[in-house]
Amino acid sequence: MKVKVPCTCYAPVDFEYDEVVDLSQDPEAANQIMAGSFMEVKCPKCGKVLHPEFPFAVKHEGKKIDIQFLPERMRDDFLRGTSKYCFKKDGRIVIGFPELAEKLKIINEGFDDRVIEVIKYYMVSKIEADQKPENEIRAFFECTDKEGNLVYQVLGLKENEAAKLTIPKSFYEVCKVKTLAYKNSEPFCLFLSPPYISLLRISRVYEEITEPEKK
Ligand SMILES: [Zn+2]
Repeated sequence: MKVKVPCTCYAPVDFEYDEVVDLSQDPEAANQIMAGSFMEVKCPKCGKVLHPEFPFAVKHEGKKIDIQFLPERMRDDFLRGTSKYCFKKDGRIVIGFPELAEKLKIINEGFDDRVIEVIKYYMVSKIEADQKPENEIRAFFECTDKEGNLVYQVLGLKENEAAKLTIPKSFYEVCKVKTLAYKNSEPFCLFLSPPYISLLRISRVYEEITEPEKK
């Protein structure tokens, strides 16, 4: 699809993207997505690199990949249930490029994306209990280390700084058992029901119900 996107210098920039990205035809796209450089475009006037977001699908039939990407600006509509994508039942939905990159990394490592979110649930709950951070904590699965432990990137602990947390492989196995046993019970069912599997579904609820601390 051909569109024009506005640059911060006010120049309209021509931008073309595919509404379906088939990774079996374009394996390089997966690397670009994971590196965070997918769908970038350079403004011909000022040279700034723009990263516009439009809805598109990522597929790979052989690897059973079927992901609908939604731009970050559509997050609220989607969570409110007023987006047309809410009715998608198969596959997965991700919102914003960090979630898409994470999803492909999870698939590459052969992990279950639900278990990855359950680990986040325990990790973020512990951080919130111990440190009472002011900002919303967002965690993204990043990679595995040499021993096969899981490395997460955690945002929101310090301003403009990402922390890395390493989770033992054995904890993944513990969480896998819990996921399969309790996926339909609260709180897990609140963020593990497809197509949008993300702890961010409930951290929004936290924001709404948290009352300001009285002193
Ligand atoms: Zn520009």
